Amino acid sequence: MAKVKTTFFCQNCGAQHSRWQGQCTTCKEWNTLVEEVVEKKAAPSWEQAADEPSSLSRKRIQTPQRISQIDATESPRMDTTNAEFNRVLGGGLVPGSVTLLGGEPGIGKSTLLLQLCLNLPFKTLYVSGEESAQQIKMRAERIKKGAENCYILTETKTQNIFRQIGENQPQALIIDSIQTLQTDHIESTAGSVSQIRECTSELIKFAKETNTPVVLIGHITKDGNIAGPKVLEHMVDTVLQFEGDRNHTYRILRALKNRFGSTQEIGIYEMLGYGLREVTNPSELLISQRGTNLSGTAIAATMEGMRPLIIEVQALVSTAVYGTPQRSATGYNLKRLNMILAILEKRAGFKLGQKDVFLNITGGINVDDPAIDLAVVVAILSSNFDIEISSQHCFSAEVGLGGEIRPVSRMEQRVNEAEKLGFEKVFIAPSKSAPKNKGINVHTVSKIEELVKFLFS
Ligand SMILES: [Zn+2]
Repeated sequence: MAKVKTTFFCQNCGAQHSRWQGQCTTCKEWNTLVEEVVEKKAAPSWEQAADEPSSLSRKRIQTPQRISQIDATESPRMDTTNAEFNRVLGGGLVPGSVTLLGGEPGIGKSTLLLQLCLNLPFKTLYVSGEESAQQIKMRAERIKKGAENCYILTETKTQNIFRQIGENQPQALIIDSIQTLQTDHIESTAGSVSQIRECTSELIKFAKETNTPVVLIGHITKDGNIAGPKVLEHMVDTVLQFEGDRNHTYRILRALKNRFGSTQEIGIYEMLGYGLREVTNPSELLISQRGTNLSGTAIAATMEGMRPLIIEVQALVSTAVYGTPQRSATGYNLKRLNMILAILEKRAGFKLGQKDVFLNITGGINVDDPAIDLAVVVAILSSNFDIEISSQHCFSAEVGLGGEIRPVSRMEQRVNEAEKLGFEKVFIAPSKSAPKNKGINVHTVSKIEELVKFLFS
């Protein structure tokens, strides 16, 4: 194959180096050199494959178009037959788009895409560098039997993948994972920034020129970045994140970036023995102890993207055994928990300084919505006083530093969801747009003291 020229660039100052070295001699930063292709004579192999008569028709050459003649109606979507996946993408796969699916190892990214692949109504090539064909077959057997449109290829060299694509002509391509791919054009090992970037750019070129949607799996590094220092996120059209707690069954699919739709939508799945089940009514599943009153438990009406989600907050407050009290939060920001405890101490006079406080959001999901604050306050106080909260009560408001209870967005939707699930009373902050009593009793409170008086005396 033709010679490709590569060189090393410092990612910090841009200086060029002929060899890899630990420190950039120009700006003195460490570990910033990355290999990049500067001259590429060889055409990517799907182009060579495309020169064969059988595949000529698939190659698209772009010519300038008058802007008035460009069709601005939305590009047609390819239905994935997976309602939650379609929802997050904004209606289905866009032909020629490149989607990156990120998530921690073991969270179920391969399962999600294999399941998707097995159910797609068009010919799809699933390329795996992670598992053998037999392993994939065994997993596929559990998910769905007799999928006719799904082709499996275990390969890590992009040139070979493109050769197979040229012969096989799939209508969609899935890569598991981008970190295992390797192109001949770069000498660095698979998984290095240079390889990831070069392989991705080859795949993007392929997607755009053949109008084939490509979905890439990318493992997330420990600090939460999709490996390949974020470079991938800027290159692809859509970035999806698959998240959840490995010990719990719920998974959330979220769009972090979407050139063809909103990033507000989320998809919810439940991990079962055979694969992932789409969860269409998540609220019912996230409340574990419905109908029993327990101290230390409060229900919050939150929003995850555009979807209302009723979730359960559990708190355990006990006297610290050792000198320094412990504070721990699962599914909720620890800094925010400390802030709430400080507010309770300062504004409402509760002595929590010598208490251990443990907080847990059930279902293993992470909540960023500030509307959960009020339920957190109620759960902590309920555990502290050992006074149970009616399981018919639901809370939705932010708590301010002054101990004031503040309104949150989309109140109407939250209250409707609580009503739909049969709650009797919802506690919210007073505001002009606060929903009125309907099938559910809407109770407004403006101060923590007021709420405490109502619930605990
Ligand atoms: Zn430098």
